[in-house]
Amino acid sequence: MQQEKIYRAELTACFGDPVDENPTGVIEEAGYEALGLNYRYLTVRVEKDHLPDAVNGARAMGFRGFNLTIPHKVAVIPLLDELTVAARLIGAVNTVVSKDGKLIGENTDGKGFLTSLRENGIDPSGKTVTLLGAGGAARAVSIELALAGARHINIINRSEARGAELAVSVSKKTKATAAYIPWSRQIRIPAETDILVQCTNIGLFPDVNGKPDVDYDSFRPGMVAADVVFNRPETPFLQEAARRGLKTITGLGMLVNQAALNFSLWTGADAPVEVMTEALAKEFGLNP
Ligand code: NDP
Repeated sequence: MQQEKIYRAELTACFGDPVDENPTGVIEEAGYEALGLNYRYLTVRVEKDHLPDAVNGARAMGFRGFNLTIPHKVAVIPLLDELTVAARLIGAVNTVVSKDGKLIGENTDGKGFLTSLRENGIDPSGKTVTLLGAGGAARAVSIELALAGARHINIINRSEARGAELAVSVSKKTKATAAYIPWSRQIRIPAETDILVQCTNIGLFPDVNGKPDVDYDSFRPGMVAADVVFNRPETPFLQEAARRGLKTITGLGMLVNQAALNFSLWTGADAPVEVMTEALAKEFGLNP
């Protein structure tokens, strides 16, 4: 007997503005294709004021889930039915999963970063971490590293209000201690730093020559330097670190690993991480 054909696709998406240059769709769709899943990932420009309509639309159309990027990661929270523990602690949602008719907000940015760190043989447990930046990416990275056992987190940020608030939040919500360090010119990285994470958008395309205002001679070879910026991956910050003998980790691993986590949340299947990594590398013209 001939099997009935299914033409209806399961829908996933990214809502953001700007969003045109977000490559997540390439990674997710490569994964869907590899597993023969009839899923689509739509990259959709949703302006700030239209987010409630977009979320209602996703509910109405039975989306399996969707990602949120700038400027929706915090604004989406009151539109959802539940939050995971991590999303609540981080105070931002990058991934929504539809489950039993409910929209559940999760945050996989920090988990993606943690996986990338571990893939590079680095365990944050007991370590001192210094972050540049206190925005959405920094919040996710700092909370997940603290939950993974980091001992102390320094937050270096330009605006004091945001930096101080994140330090208080980490020390209140996790077992790690945390301190805010004002970003003075040519700031020296604390010598006790084990893991240094660049979490600002400096260096992000088209500002590809942008470099954080730090004293690069304060880097020690024993430190690990990671950047969350993935476009382009070899940021001037990482180039300075590599020149001084530090181990470096680009933002590509974080991007692929958060995409892999989302994939599993939406499909219930193990993500074909190798295929997804290759698709991203091909997109950026890199060797995986
Ligand atoms: P936010 O806008 O929430 O935060 C930006 C941060 O950068 C703030 O702390 C801001 O400081 C700081 N900043 C910006 N410009 C400067 C500057 N010239 N000097 C000093 N500090 C500066 O952005 P996000 O945290 O959401 O995103 C940051 C980066 O992370 C982006 O490049 C994004 O692409 C990347 N990202 C990567 C992911 C991945 O998977 N690899 C996942 C998520 C994000 P202030 O508070 O003073 O304004």
